[in-house]
Amino acid sequence: MKEYSEIRVQLLGRRAELESRLGSIKKDISKPLDHDFAEQAVELENDEVLQALGTEAEAEINKINSALIRMDEERYGECVSCGVSISAERLAVRPFSSRCISCATKEEAH
Ligand SMILES: [Zn+2]
Repeated sequence: MKEYSEIRVQLLGRRAELESRLGSIKKDISKPLDHDFAEQAVELENDEVLQALGTEAEAEINKINSALIRMDEERYGECVSCGVSISAERLAVRPFSSRCISCATKEEAH
């Protein structure tokens, strides 16, 4: 059995960071609008940016969660598409990778 405890700690830390960021984004979005109309426009625009950041953070949290599940099932580090081992270099850069480079490249080409 491969030991991924270091990556797990890294993923858990990253997830905690994203979750706290998500929390403050949500707090910012729910702030009441300013009375000044021009200010309102700026705030709505900011909300859109925040929303996009929030969606991004949520997507990354989901990837991290599924990586942690794969670790528990001892399938972590295997490509979910073709089953080959994902290179350690790739996992070091993107620890939540679920596909090997060639499958990920194929996926992106679609
Ligand atoms: Zn693959």
